[in-house]
Amino acid sequence: MNSADFAVIGAGVLGVNVATELKRRHPGASVVLLEKEAQPGLHASGRNSGVLHAGFYYTADSLKARFTRQGNQRMKEYVEAKGLRINRCGKLVVARDERELEGLEELLRRGTLNGVTLQELSEAEALKIEPRIKVLRKALFSPNTATVDPAEVMRSMVADAQALGVTILPSTRYLSRRTGTIVTSAGELACGYVVNTAGLYADQVARDFGFSQRYRILPFKGLYLYSSEPAGAFRTNVYPVPNLKNPFLGVHVTVTVDGHAKLGPTAIPCLWREQYGWSGNFHFSELAEALGMSANLFLRAGFDFRGLALEEMRKYYRPHLVTQAASLATGIKTDDYVRWGKPGIRAQLVDTAKRTLVQDFCVEGDDKSFHVLNAVSPGWTCAIPFAEHVCNEIERFGGATAPPAQG
Ligand SMILES: Cc1cc2nc3c(=O)[nH]c(=O)nc-3n(C[C@H](O)[C@H](O)[C@H](O)COP(=O)(O)OP(=O)(O)OC[C@H]3O[C@@H](n4cnc5c(N)ncnc54)[C@H](O)[C@@H]3O)c2cc1C
Repeated sequence: MNSADFAVIGAGVLGVNVATELKRRHPGASVVLLEKEAQPGLHASGRNSGVLHAGFYYTADSLKARFTRQGNQRMKEYVEAKGLRINRCGKLVVARDERELEGLEELLRRGTLNGVTLQELSEAEALKIEPRIKVLRKALFSPNTATVDPAEVMRSMVADAQALGVTILPSTRYLSRRTGTIVTSAGELACGYVVNTAGLYADQVARDFGFSQRYRILPFKGLYLYSSEPAGAFRTNVYPVPNLKNPFLGVHVTVTVDGHAKLGPTAIPCLWREQYGWSGNFHFSELAEALGMSANLFLRAGFDFRGLALEEMRKYYRPHLVTQAASLATGIKTDDYVRWGKPGIRAQLVDTAKRTLVQDFCVEGDDKSFHVLNAVSPGWTCAIPFAEHVCNEIERFGGATAPPAQG
């Protein structure tokens, strides 16, 4: 039987960074990173907007607030050190009505509490930054928001992990747990300590270890529409004021690392976890679970799930999605937005006791295993400090002193 001192399940940006950090802290230990796909980064970490958020959406007591400002800085240092591309284009947040102006104030308040640089701009000042935006009296500008190419960054981080001595096992699916071992599609693996960063399947893996008892993942699909306008048609990212009662930021204009604009992502509830298309990766048990959870939330959610789901589903209709974005800036026309991009799916955690969507990152663990639940946005931005936090927590639980695995 194969063995590992640390087995990390799931090679997205979090799994890769956790495995790298574990190996850095314990150079003599064997660290194995299991990935069910043929290569790392094929799910959320390779399908996100690539935005390095600044950290002003989150309440000051949250893990998201704690890691975003630092993560933004650390990811920028990383891409610069590696010579990878970055677009330091910043971001404008605009209000579209009086109610959203109050939301803008709240974002400014949260940003100040979180130590994030934000500028409150008049209409004239905002138009100097982005002549196409539609402004109601004032806007917020975040100079530290930037965009990177997620696939490029993932390739580099995977190479770093391997250079340090992390063993990556592609096409190896975690199946179940036995005492002291995990069962994978490539056989059994004896493990000293298990870290679960399995994204859309993190709640299922966690339940095998006695965690995630009150949580279930409800997947939400993010569709993107690419602009056919030339690079530079937008100078900065343009976002609406989000409904802070739910964890999604609303349809916005993202300027990619090569200067092109894309609209999205949507937040459409999925019928199964990896429902990127109409039938691929279908599992009946996941359909039943998603339908059951959605029905429960439709009837008895602690927030307006019905309104959210119905509005989001309308965004499958391209002209509706374009119209939403057109409320943010001038010249956004259906004819320029015909190409759908690669969708991404958020591993959104539902608190089944409270019937709410969990807003913050959520982690659980003990001296044998550790589980990263709800690694939703801005998990990409936060990956480096978040992974360090995971390793600190493992040490706190005494996991790093677990007896070495016996093969
Ligand atoms: C549409 C969208 C847009 C986003 N935009 C942004 C953004 O602009 N900025 C930002 O900061 N964040 C953004 N995010 C969030 C960010 O992408 C995630 O927080 C981050 O990628 C999560 O990384 P992860 O490693 O936890 O998950 P993933 O990248 O999903 O990795 C989990 C891995 O686990 C593997 N796995 C699952 N089950 C098993 C198993 N049984 N055995 C072995 N392997 C398994 C999967 O194949 C997968 O590779 C966005 C997310 C989405 C979906």
